[in-house]
Parts: sequence; structure tokens; C-alpha cells
Amino acid sequence: AAEPFDLKAHIRGVPDFPKPGILFYDICTLLRDGPAFRAAIRQLADLVRPHAPTALAGIESRGFVLAAPLALELGIGFILLRKPGKLPGATIGYNYALEYGTDRLEIQADAVKRGDRVVLLDDLLATGGTMAAGIHLLKEAGAEVPLAAAMIELGFLGGRARLDAPFAALVSYD
Ligand code: 5GP
Repeated sequence: AAEPFDLKAHIRGVPDFPKPGILFYDICTLLRDGPAFRAAIRQLADLVRPHAPTALAGIESRGFVLAAPLALELGIGFILLRKPGKLPGATIGYNYALEYGTDRLEIQADAVKRGDRVVLLDDLLATGGTMAAGIHLLKEAGAEVPLAAAMIELGFLGGRARLDAPFAALVSYD
């Protein structure tokens, strides 16, 4: 099991980004620190491993930064959920609402194999709209989703209630 490590000490709150009034949790400071980055991946591995995933999915683009090393650590494959028009071949897409406007995530139609248990990972859960879209896509592609996980949860936004899968995070801001 991973040793205890204070991840919050390496996450920086940036006021008024990307808009006035929003406190943005910046994980670049954590990624820039070798022991902190490694501790985060090891703690995520402990969180995810009991769910016995056969593959890991990450959400573009900060989700990729965490999901790829986590897949390597767990010895399982990695599925990319991307912004529109980036994936070659047949894809399945899902549009979801943002505060202003809409966004879309896509998955390759053949990414999920029969019987796959896919854990979905992103850096941060805010309103839950992005993660909910990812869960929807994975299920539409044929996956079982035993867990959705994030390094950070903005607990005060209640995003986990919107998710059609169990959810866990390493740290929460309430
Ligand atoms: P949601 O769809 O849950 O409202 O927003 C989550 C998505 O927006 C995630 O993909 C995440 O990367 C990004 N996001 C929203 N707020 C923050 C934040 O404060 N820090 C970081 N690192 N990402 C955020």
C-alpha cells in the first residue's frame, strides 16, 4: 500500500481562473514534484485496484496525465475519451451541457472488449457533467463501470450525485 502523503500540500488554488470568482485547483504544481506525482499515482492505484478493472479510461487532457501512469502501474490497458474529431475510425459520441453551451466526448467504437470492467479517471470532479458523460459513453460502448475516480473532488458542488457509477476521490474540498 502507498505511504501516507499530503497531496493537498502540493495542489495550488488559483483565484479568478478561468473566470472571476472561480478558485481553480491547479495540479501542475503536484505533477512538477516527482515524489508527489508518484505518491498520487500509488494512492490512486490503491483506490482502484480492489475494483479489479480490466482497462482504465481517461478524459482529455489532464485525465490522461494521471490515467496513463496508473494503467501502467496496474498492468492494464488505457482507453482515451477525447474531444470531438480527434479519434480515427468509428467513434461513439456524447454531448453534454456546460454552464454556457455544450461539450462532447468521444470513444472509439471498438475500444471496449466483451466483459470489460473499465474504471474511469479524471483529475477533478466539479459539477460532475464531464464524468457523467464519460460513464455514459463507456456503458454505451459495452463496458461495466465499477468505479469512477478523481484525484480531487469539489465536494460542495455535489457532482457525485449525478454519476451513474460508484465514485471515489483522493482529496475533497468542502
Ligand atoms: P465538471 O464537468 O465536473 O463540472 O468539471 C470537471 C472537468 O473540468 C474536469 O475535466 C476538470 O479537468 C475540469 N476542471 C473544472 N474545475 C477544475 C479545477 O478547479 N481544477 C482542475 N484541475 N480542473 C478543473
